[in-house]
Amino acid sequence: MTTSGPRRVLVVNAGSSSLKYQLVDPDTGVSDATGLVERIGLPAGRVRHTCASGTHTHETTVPDHVRAMAVLREAFAQHGPDLSEVELVAVGHRVVHGGADFSEPTVVTPAVVDAVRRLVPLAPLHNPGNLQGIEVAQRTFPDVPQVAVFDTAFHQTMPAAASTYAVPRAWREQYRVRRYGFHGTSHAYVSRRVADLLGRPLEEVATIVLHLGNGASATAVDGGRSVDTSMGLTPLEGLVMGTRPGDVDPGLPRHLAEVAGLSVEDYDRALSKESGLVGLTGSADMRDVEERFEAGDPDARLAFDVVVHRLLHYVGAYAAILGRLDAIAFTAGIGEHSPLVRAAVVERLAGFGVRLDAAANESAHGEAVISTPDSSVTVLVVPTNEEWEIARQASAVVDALP
Ligand code: ADP
Repeated sequence: MTTSGPRRVLVVNAGSSSLKYQLVDPDTGVSDATGLVERIGLPAGRVRHTCASGTHTHETTVPDHVRAMAVLREAFAQHGPDLSEVELVAVGHRVVHGGADFSEPTVVTPAVVDAVRRLVPLAPLHNPGNLQGIEVAQRTFPDVPQVAVFDTAFHQTMPAAASTYAVPRAWREQYRVRRYGFHGTSHAYVSRRVADLLGRPLEEVATIVLHLGNGASATAVDGGRSVDTSMGLTPLEGLVMGTRPGDVDPGLPRHLAEVAGLSVEDYDRALSKESGLVGLTGSADMRDVEERFEAGDPDARLAFDVVVHRLLHYVGAYAAILGRLDAIAFTAGIGEHSPLVRAAVVERLAGFGVRLDAAANESAHGEAVISTPDSSVTVLVVPTNEEWEIARQASAVVDALP
């Protein structure tokens, strides 16, 4: 590792069976290489590395995360860029759950690793993989600071009124039952870009960010601070998603235990993997749902309407919670690419003076304003860039080290 080449952050998103990475210039967001090692621990692992010379894929056995990180290094060595010719200022790790312990990106120490481990019960599907990523990256890049960037951190500014569930004291105090929120890196990035695009100081702007991917969440951002968000203790709450229902009646588990004998595990699987768009139509992919809806399929029509209804529910709630509204921003797969969903939401806000520019909505590509100049609220499409946000936050933390 050199300290003279261009400054870069290696952004790592390690899951239980995959390792995504990107080499990012923290100042510009330009990425020199992006890659994915998948099927870790399964018979045929797959590697994809994209850099200046193209996309390189191959299959190889990847029994564990140690091997996955070695595969990453080999990909850089073989296809470039040469990691010895960049100044690697940090490895930035996406960590899903930081609980109430982390409200900022944090340099990884043994105490941080312990804290992330203690949070595993709150994110059993995500934090263990994130931890493995941190541990192997520490061994692979021992001289480079490792920085954890938490999906929950941005929402730590939520007031207690928004983060508190009205449940028994013991649940709240002993078991950390509260609303945490997720997708924070994306909501932070998009809300900042909105202020840039409006040409106004972040502190002045009130924005609702709609992050609509396979997972989906809405956030009310007041002056750059999250004041409410639709995901809660877990990423199940809130909007209707690809495979998750979002809000349901808390009485549902008892009802299903009585009428269908459902166990907690059955219930959890159904709400994590078999609900949302897939529960309503059989497909978790909004593109399929839209195609079928346009061809007259009643299930797809209902699913689309349920998705839009829930979005309106949150937009209305967050406008009231913010008490004013400058911008609504759409991001992630559906938000960036579905004029149909955007139009269905924005057209229903006409009574509040929100005016869609239909042509701009249809042709939006990349960052775009899709409301008319006389609209009461500016509506935008802002492609999210979580890797850049992680790189930026990680390098800022390292720059501030004594
Ligand atoms: P993830 O949350 O896994 O990162 P993405 O942000 O990529 O997911 O979003 C995936 C969702 O975006 C899927 O439901 C997919 O159908 C939807 N999507 C992608 N392109 C389009 C499109 N052109 N029109 C409608 N939906 C789209």
